[in-house]
Amino acid sequence: MISPSYAGTLIHRITQTAGITLNDGTPARTTPHDFRRIYATEAVSSGLPVHVAAKVLDHDNLNTTQGYVAIYDADVIEHHRAFIARRRSQRPSHEYRDVTDDEWDEFLSHFEKRKVELGTCGRAYATPCIHEHACIRCLLLQPDPRQLPRLQKIHANLLDRLTEAHTNGWAGEIEGLQINIAAAEHKLERLTRNTTAPTTPTHP
Ligand code: SF4
Repeated sequence: MISPSYAGTLIHRITQTAGITLNDGTPARTTPHDFRRIYATEAVSSGLPVHVAAKVLDHDNLNTTQGYVAIYDADVIEHHRAFIARRRSQRPSHEYRDVTDDEWDEFLSHFEKRKVELGTCGRAYATPCIHEHACIRCLLLQPDPRQLPRLQKIHANLLDRLTEAHTNGWAGEIEGLQINIAAAEHKLERLTRNTTAPTTPTHP
């Protein structure tokens, strides 16, 4: 049986031999763990329900699996286009007319309302927030890189609260705090990844 560290060494060698680099030309580093993330992202974006992916990955907590699923811009655009196409197919053709000024203002105001503390809410037009404004744990939040320090502060505060909950035996708080911490860490990871180095591998 191949140990995880030997598997890592083999993958590193293959990456080097293949000459796979990041956008800035530095050699890409791939770990065995990356393949779990790739699998989760591909499986869920291809339609596998996230709770089934969680079983396959042997995750006890669904939030761990959700944290594995990277949402790429292309996926967001593709899903939004599919949503628009579905909506259009359901609307009577006489509704396709020029918009009034009031309608246009209302349309723009929707996007104003999607600006939230930590970034931009990605929910569809004319839909309300159905996640009780718990943006920290919501997959629809597109975090704003400028809010990284705020997110780090929230994360540190959550860790303090978890310690306090354990100390005081507030068992009812612990699970919710752990979910929030996992979600905050997922968002921090995304922001850190996006603000440090480009990570899209390119082939020569
Ligand atoms: S919880 Fe989600 S859907 Fe609701 S406002 Fe926040 S990001 Fe948007």
